[in-house]
Amino acid sequence: MIPAPFDYAAPATLDEALSLLASRSDDAKILAGGHSLLPAMKLRLAQPALLVDIGRIKDLAYVREDGGQIRIGARTTHYEIESSDLLKKVCPLLPECAGTIGDVQVRNCGTIGGSLAHADPAGDFPAAVLALDAELVAVSKRGERTIKVSDFFVDMLTTALAPDEILREIRVAAAPARTGQAYRKVHQPASGFAVVGVAVSLTLGAAGACDSAAVALTGVAAKPYRARGVEQLLVGKTLDAQAIADAAAHADEGVDANSDLYASAEYRRHLARVHTRRAIAAALSRAA
Ligand SMILES: Cc1cc2nc3c(=O)[nH]c(=O)nc-3n(C[C@H](O)[C@H](O)[C@H](O)COP(=O)(O)OP(=O)(O)OC[C@H]3O[C@@H](n4cnc5c(N)ncnc54)[C@H](O)[C@@H]3O)c2cc1C
Repeated sequence: MIPAPFDYAAPATLDEALSLLASRSDDAKILAGGHSLLPAMKLRLAQPALLVDIGRIKDLAYVREDGGQIRIGARTTHYEIESSDLLKKVCPLLPECAGTIGDVQVRNCGTIGGSLAHADPAGDFPAAVLALDAELVAVSKRGERTIKVSDFFVDMLTTALAPDEILREIRVAAAPARTGQAYRKVHQPASGFAVVGVAVSLTLGAAGACDSAAVALTGVAAKPYRARGVEQLLVGKTLDAQAIADAAAHADEGVDANSDLYASAEYRRHLARVHTRRAIAAALSRAA
């Protein structure tokens, strides 16, 4: 499996990378960790004429807090997110999710920006950032724009990013008090990708009832989605086992479920309901 011939550039600055993309946006592709793009090139599913390697742009990899908002550089690796003390404290959903991705080698090279830009229907981070209502900052020679995560995932392997744009930063809010978060996943045994992955973030009010709930699923459909029917049934309730089960039963509502050799659509729907129930229960146990 040998890729088609391509040119390679490794700019040292973001500006240089943006200039290259602006001049070759019809046939160039950004290379980050390479753990999705290179396999696609070897299978000749992607044949870019130019790879713009952003691996040497140091100021694209960071996790920091700024006025209650967490900012994550797009080139931050899965391992850096999994092991970030700041994220473990203020947004534990992301490290938990990162720790389920692939294996150690994949987590050392793969980046959150690459995962989101690739938009694999079985990718893990897309569910987590949807549940966190993230904002995604994209930059090009034309300027910078902020994309709400609800507008970012367009279809399977397709996002709102334009060919000349680099995803620069992911922004999420620090979790308020009495918030519990959890990620639950059924691994595809060969690849490690999510057959079904469920990200939950819920916040309890002073009396112990659920004040707000965000539930997002990946692996089930062509693109990740928020399970609004589940969320509506959680909010305002005291979450006992029955209330959680009743809500989780709506996890696959209105969804056109994927089917493949490993999991039929019916089985995926079943997994979606079961693991949504478990993810909500896990998040609740961390919220008190
Ligand atoms: C064996 C194996 C197992 C895996 N298991 C899992 C798993 O369990 N869960 C999971 O979620 N993923 C899994 N992955 C995928 C892995 O997480 C990838 O690293 C990730 O999907 C892509 O990140 P990357 O940095 O490698 O991006 P690349 O492969 O370099 O790029 C992917 C795509 O994103 C674009 N891109 C990259 N960075 C940017 C940016 N900053 N702005 C705009 N476009 C950009 C590229 O042009 C390309 O189109 C696995 C991969 C392998 C090889």
